[in-house]
Amino acid sequence: MARTKIPWADRTWNPVTGCTPCSPACEHCYAKRMANRLRGRFGYPQDKPFSVTFHEDRLQEITRRQKPACIFAGSMTDFYHPGVWAKWRRQIWDAMWACGQHRFMVLTKRPERMVKCVLQEASRRQFGWTHTTRPPWRPGDDAALEDIYYRDQCGWVGEGSTSESGWDCEHPDSDGECNIECPIFCQADTDSDGRELDDDGMPIDHEWMECYARVRDGAAANVALGFSAWDQASLERGSRALRRLRWELGPWAMLFVSLEPLLSPVTFRMEYYGDQYREPGDEPHWWSPLDLYTFEGLPRVDVPILNQVILGCESGPNRRPFQAEWARDIRDQCIVAGVPFFYKQGHDSNGKVEHIPLLDGRTWTERPEWFFNPEVKGNA
Ligand code: SF4
Repeated sequence: MARTKIPWADRTWNPVTGCTPCSPACEHCYAKRMANRLRGRFGYPQDKPFSVTFHEDRLQEITRRQKPACIFAGSMTDFYHPGVWAKWRRQIWDAMWACGQHRFMVLTKRPERMVKCVLQEASRRQFGWTHTTRPPWRPGDDAALEDIYYRDQCGWVGEGSTSESGWDCEHPDSDGECNIECPIFCQADTDSDGRELDDDGMPIDHEWMECYARVRDGAAANVALGFSAWDQASLERGSRALRRLRWELGPWAMLFVSLEPLLSPVTFRMEYYGDQYREPGDEPHWWSPLDLYTFEGLPRVDVPILNQVILGCESGPNRRPFQAEWARDIRDQCIVAGVPFFYKQGHDSNGKVEHIPLLDGRTWTERPEWFFNPEVKGNA
């Protein structure tokens, strides 16, 4: 584990190194430059230094450090690169989970994959099985209610269906859709705590949200999950993915976006569905990942989908243009929404990269203190 100059972290920790460029923002990847420079040393393979490599011996580094730190986990990789095996990620997750004294920041350019993997991991912790390891439930089996309720993990969900598209059901006794006619769901007339179910198979006095919320206890509370965005399309893609994560993990998850390197102006105001769901003539529906998300029935009800926005220009050789006006616009949107804004780096008046630059006479290094300092209460 190394000290870092990244101003929003104290340390970096790299139990995996290596990646494959997957976006225009990867063009001048620092991790790749460093891997090539250090080939054959510090665990980087000699022949292909930027190939995805697991360093099991580094897992204990975070355990050995007792002094609390904010740790950027995976600064020299992307944990959600397809070459990072689930069994490695599981060990990494277990190690972070065991180190409650630290706060970890995990960042990806593959947000959809992150959502899928995080939910599998949370499910494994909570129920002891995941989408891929749990055998299909069959009528007559002894099933706990959560097996039945947790729709996308019942074992009968059609391949490729998602919460956005709706779940297809492949159970031989179903009408093809996952709905309250569920043949598994309707078998049970009491839940796992012995409570009675109503005619729809829902437990009496038991909210759907509360059942679904069970996976929330499987998420690591000391790990912040973020995605990188560099233009409007990547911001919208990642925001949609994290909207699902907010819903699944609940209000206590720390979710963030890193707009670095920001390559063009962006806005958080985005169309809800996109054109494919809109009839001709329909008005678009707008939403923002800075909007408050309401969790009815939970004590802490309103949180933004994203808890923090980090922004920075590109640095290093051949860096691409950047304008402070882009940062100002995003900062203003954060102020209106009450979301912490961290302006990590910009250009000075000579076009040189400046760390923690001034914007309108002051620096912007806000962060959600409830996550970094748990004794500070509050949502943002
Ligand atoms: S995803 Fe990140 S680590 Fe991977 S190539 Fe792109 S910038 Fe580098």
